[in-house]
Amino acid sequence: MSEYRMNTKCVQAGYTPGNGEPRQIPIVQSTTFKYATSEDMGKLFDLEAEGYFYTRLQNPTNDHVAAKIAELEGGTAGMLTSSGQAANFFTLFNICECGSHIVASSSIYGGTFNLISVTMAKMGITVTFVSPDCSEEELNAAFQENTKVVFGETIANPALTVLDIEKFARAAHAHGVPLVVDNTFPTPVNCRPIEWGADIVTHSTTKYMDGHGAAVGGAIVDSGKFDWMAHADKYPGLCTPDESYHGITYAEKFGKEGAFITKCTAQLMRDFGSIQSPQNAFLLNLGLESLHVRMPRHVENGQAVAEFLQKQPQVKYVNYPGLPGNPYYEVAQKYMPNGGCGVVSFELEGGRTAAEKFMKELKLAAIETHVADARTCCLNPATSTHRQMTEEQLIAAGVPSGLIRVSCGLEDKEDLIADLAQALAAI
Ligand SMILES: *Cc1c(COP(=O)(O)O)cnc(C)c1O
Repeated sequence: MSEYRMNTKCVQAGYTPGNGEPRQIPIVQSTTFKYATSEDMGKLFDLEAEGYFYTRLQNPTNDHVAAKIAELEGGTAGMLTSSGQAANFFTLFNICECGSHIVASSSIYGGTFNLISVTMAKMGITVTFVSPDCSEEELNAAFQENTKVVFGETIANPALTVLDIEKFARAAHAHGVPLVVDNTFPTPVNCRPIEWGADIVTHSTTKYMDGHGAAVGGAIVDSGKFDWMAHADKYPGLCTPDESYHGITYAEKFGKEGAFITKCTAQLMRDFGSIQSPQNAFLLNLGLESLHVRMPRHVENGQAVAEFLQKQPQVKYVNYPGLPGNPYYEVAQKYMPNGGCGVVSFELEGGRTAAEKFMKELKLAAIETHVADARTCCLNPATSTHRQMTEEQLIAAGVPSGLIRVSCGLEDKEDLIADLAQALAAI
């Protein structure tokens, strides 16, 4: 499928049925798989033959969908996880161990920020956060002798900062470590970080990939480009025998193209078990089949809503990388010439009182802790996700009480704008 273009891959990559086989990816709703002899099954356990034995490790439905996502991102191997959180944890923990250090952009999803700064710290893994806008000098200064990986988000949720992928890739590679990019918001339809130097790409498929608010899930794609063996001293997990897996050395046996995902499956998925259910993988694939049709509409609606809001007297400022004058406009144009996503944030004049009134008046836009769904949804962090914070803390965190995040869905943009206009008028 790799010779085909993006739209074709969204529809058909990952699964090609044979004669008389189901046209749609079958949901293999089975925990286990049957073999004629113990020797047949032994070969699977030794990773000498390909096949399935237990769904916690691999399942055919999941593998078809993971293969599609790997093709969309231009990688050599992929896997699904139970959530975006699991995808980022597995990716980082597949490289890092107690004593390792991570360099991460400070502008990332709150869940990932907690994962790295609190939970992984308990495992003895430390982090230095850098601003996505830092100079190359500041970025290089963040590295330590024990740095194993660099992490950032293409478009950060919810700050909507845009990562200069080439800048981060250059610094990572100069220090002999891979760059991991969470590409959830633009999806491969709008940006393919591997083409700009990223080594591993992660996703919360819960967002645009599913796109219908139906299934929580995650995905990991390896570019197959990072040469683990060239930095073998840094990556003992990939470059020395795994005693828990018959002494296999992943980087030797599976090469650059397969080592990362094979280890992540054979070791981490075996031990942590955060699998995506085959039923959810099936739903995810339905989303992927129309991803290339939906993303341009999300962008069109996001752009129209951002341009409308910018002209309203009740609005203090609008944050959307597609607006000329936005600090990330140029970098967004470079990495995402067709637009990024449909999420827009803005601050109302009149703070908390105005925000509460505005949210109450919305009719089409639903109040939800969610983004990247076919249905438009809205959130006022100060009265929901961040409600334990004081006014001062909210300002310090960059979420003033009048801040609203709107995730533009696939409705008519005229209807969305009319809904926002009547709610603004009611303030
Ligand atoms: C939502 C999100 C996550 C977490 O994904 P879940 O599927 O909710 O676990 C990670 N990264 C980004 C950028 C997200 O938007």
